[in-house]
Order: sequence, then structure tokens, then C-alpha cells
Amino acid sequence: MSKPNILIVEDEPAIREMVAMALTPAGFVLSEACNAKDALNLVSDNIPSLILLDWMLPDMSGLDIARRLKRNESTQDIPIIMLTARVDENDKIRGLEAGSDDYITKPFSTRELIARINAVLRRSNNTLKQAINIDGLELNPNTHRVTIDNEAVTMGPTEFRLLRFFMTHPERVYTRNQLIDHVWGGNVYIDERTVDVHIRRLRKALNPQDFSKMVQTVRGTGYRFSNKV
Ligand code: CA
Repeated sequence: MSKPNILIVEDEPAIREMVAMALTPAGFVLSEACNAKDALNLVSDNIPSLILLDWMLPDMSGLDIARRLKRNESTQDIPIIMLTARVDENDKIRGLEAGSDDYITKPFSTRELIARINAVLRRSNNTLKQAINIDGLELNPNTHRVTIDNEAVTMGPTEFRLLRFFMTHPERVYTRNQLIDHVWGGNVYIDERTVDVHIRRLRKALNPQDFSKMVQTVRGTGYRFSNKV
């Protein structure tokens, strides 16, 4: 198993630094964002194993970020631990209702932080999803590996998310805008032509084994994933 990748979203440098000093020696890979915009961009580039999310950020509240992530199919399963200075019971409930998996009240010890992260990761690993297999093309949502007849297929993170969306929604036609909403999440501005670029890359990744024809262009509308020609 590769090291869990933790994203910390926190505007106070001292807390980011303290978390980095705690997590790196404990075997985690850490990425950092100091505002919501950077955080959402980082998440759309690479899905982290878990997010440590500050409640009070300069551009958007941690609660709103959590809600956004939970609304989006490609990010809804990322476990979230809220970092909060608030201890009010109502705030805890609001945080959990927004979809966070746990919360830590500041100030916290590094031991508590690591224990909470490990507990949340264990819980989320217990709800691991089944690999999806269509005619020998297999996508494992947990390991992010794609194989064709057990041979590894390499592709970028966006192509992976596109393929996961297609394989979980086969036989339906999606417009480019619908794909942007589902795969990119609508948090960032994406040109429709960008979709075509990633479709091409996805086909190229699947091409040697001739699986690329499952990614079908529907003229005047968009794309469909199908194993029927
Ligand atoms: Ca803050």
C-alpha cells in the first residue's frame, strides 16, 4: 500500500507546520492549501486519502467546502476531519451533518491528530468499494488501478476519474457540460474542449488493447461509455 496522502486546508501557517512535522515522520504524504480555492484545485488534481479541514478560512467556510465535496461524486468519499476552535455542540453537529467524518478541537496534540486520522482511514477502508469490471477492463476505486485482462493501464488522474464515471454510468449519453459537473465538479472553470482533450487521452490509454472504442462519441450531443458497438 502506498502512503496515505493527507491534504491540510488551513490558513494559519503555524498549524500547517505543526501538522507537517507530525504527519511526515508518521508515514503520511502531506499537501497543503491555505484557502478554499487552492484546496478545491488540489483535490481536482489528485484525490487525497483524507482532508484535514479548518472551519474558518478566508474565502469560504470549511463547512461549505465539505458540502461541496460531498455533493460531487468524484470527491464524496474523501474522509474529512474538521479542525475547529469551536467547541459548541451545535457546531459539532453542523460539521457532521455537512459530511465530515470527525472533528478535532484546537489546540490538539499530534498524538490525538494521528490517532484520529488512523481511525477515520480505517473506517473508510472498511467501506471499500468493489472493483468494476466490464469485459476484462477493470477499475479499482480503492487502489486507483486500471487493468485490462490483468495488465496495468496507465493514465492520468483526470482520465481515471472520467473512466470511473463512465464505468459506473454505462450506456448513457452525457454532454460535455454534464461530464464537467460530474468529473471535475464544477468548482473550477473548465472549457468544453478540455473534455475532448481528456477523452482523447483516455482513448489513447485504452487504445493498445482496442478498448478505446467503448468511449463513444455521440454526434451533436457528447459521449457515452458502452461495450456494445
Ligand atoms: Ca482558520
